[in-house]
Amino acid sequence: MAKSLIYSRLYEWYFVNRRDLPWRETDDPYAIWLSEIILQQTRVAQGLEYYRRFLQRWPTVRDLAAADEAEVLREWQGLGYYSRARNLHKAAQKIAGERLRVTGYGGRETEEGSVFPRTFEEIRALPGVGDYTAGAIASFAYNLPYPAMDGNVYRVVARLFDIDEPFDTTAGKKLFHKKIEELLDRDNPRLFNSAIMEFGALYCTPVLEAVSHQHSVVSRCESCPLADFCAAHAHGTAELLPVRKQRPKVRDRWFDYHIYLQQSAVSHQQSEVYTLIRRREDPKDIWYHLYEFPSEESESAERSVLCQPQAVCELSHVLSHQKIHARFIIHKVEELPQIEGTIAVRWEELDDYAFSRLTLRAIDTLRTSLPH
Ligand code: SF4
Repeated sequence: MAKSLIYSRLYEWYFVNRRDLPWRETDDPYAIWLSEIILQQTRVAQGLEYYRRFLQRWPTVRDLAAADEAEVLREWQGLGYYSRARNLHKAAQKIAGERLRVTGYGGRETEEGSVFPRTFEEIRALPGVGDYTAGAIASFAYNLPYPAMDGNVYRVVARLFDIDEPFDTTAGKKLFHKKIEELLDRDNPRLFNSAIMEFGALYCTPVLEAVSHQHSVVSRCESCPLADFCAAHAHGTAELLPVRKQRPKVRDRWFDYHIYLQQSAVSHQQSEVYTLIRRREDPKDIWYHLYEFPSEESESAERSVLCQPQAVCELSHVLSHQKIHARFIIHKVEELPQIEGTIAVRWEELDDYAFSRLTLRAIDTLRTSLPH
């Protein structure tokens, strides 16, 4: 494979077709790291807004480290997969903490005096950072020769080399990494990683996505700048790749959330509604440190019979390996019950707390039907 020709075709395509994205215009490792964590499991259009908001509120890693975790979770609200936000905050504190004993850390001192790790190994050691993210930061911020294998790159590599080994097994990962290491442009890792990721995102797309845009990937192959080097194109296998091992079984979970509402008169014309919420405290929980209405989880769809529920809102929520079946049950009460770990808050104050996306959907749904 003539690598220099691949690079020139790929880069030519990239310069014409690339999207203008703010994290591409910077080599600030903090901003790049922020964008990479936000964009894991999030679409670019949605991630953009969060990226701007986070940078505006916490312009440096030290600002983020000094924030309360609750504030960070609150700002993250709506993005889901909250462990990303918790790790972001933990990593910022780790980086800011390292500043105090900076000798030998090898980091780059920014104007604000914070030091962001600058070797692949140091970046990889941050909470929430895996091989992909470490490679992305190392190459985008420091132009270090590490690949950044996201899902788009796996697809392009599978097709260029016609690899039918599943990419999500240990053996498959090893093989794909060997191939991308061979292909990486060591003189221009930043450009190479950006270009191949964008090429996978916009041109050499998944089959379903291509079909929905009414261009099958095969029809694109005809005019693809990399067609001459693409083994899958030569063998007619592009649409079959990449291969994924069978997805893990989705686990069903059933929850009942109890929304207690107590209406208290403030004056003749005005009243306030109070409810109970609590923070989830199990560190292994996907909703760790998020707030919720008091809840119970059942082992099956057969849940306890409800005592005079006044209103029930049923919602389903699909996460990567879990399907949540939730009922939000409203109890209008004279007095809020005593439930361990809960706090009483005014209904209008709910916006001050970070909730899971599921609970936010329930609050939005119920808002119109509740007393004002
Ligand atoms: S020829 Fe087709 S499969 Fe191969 S890289 Fe181009 S778009 Fe992807």
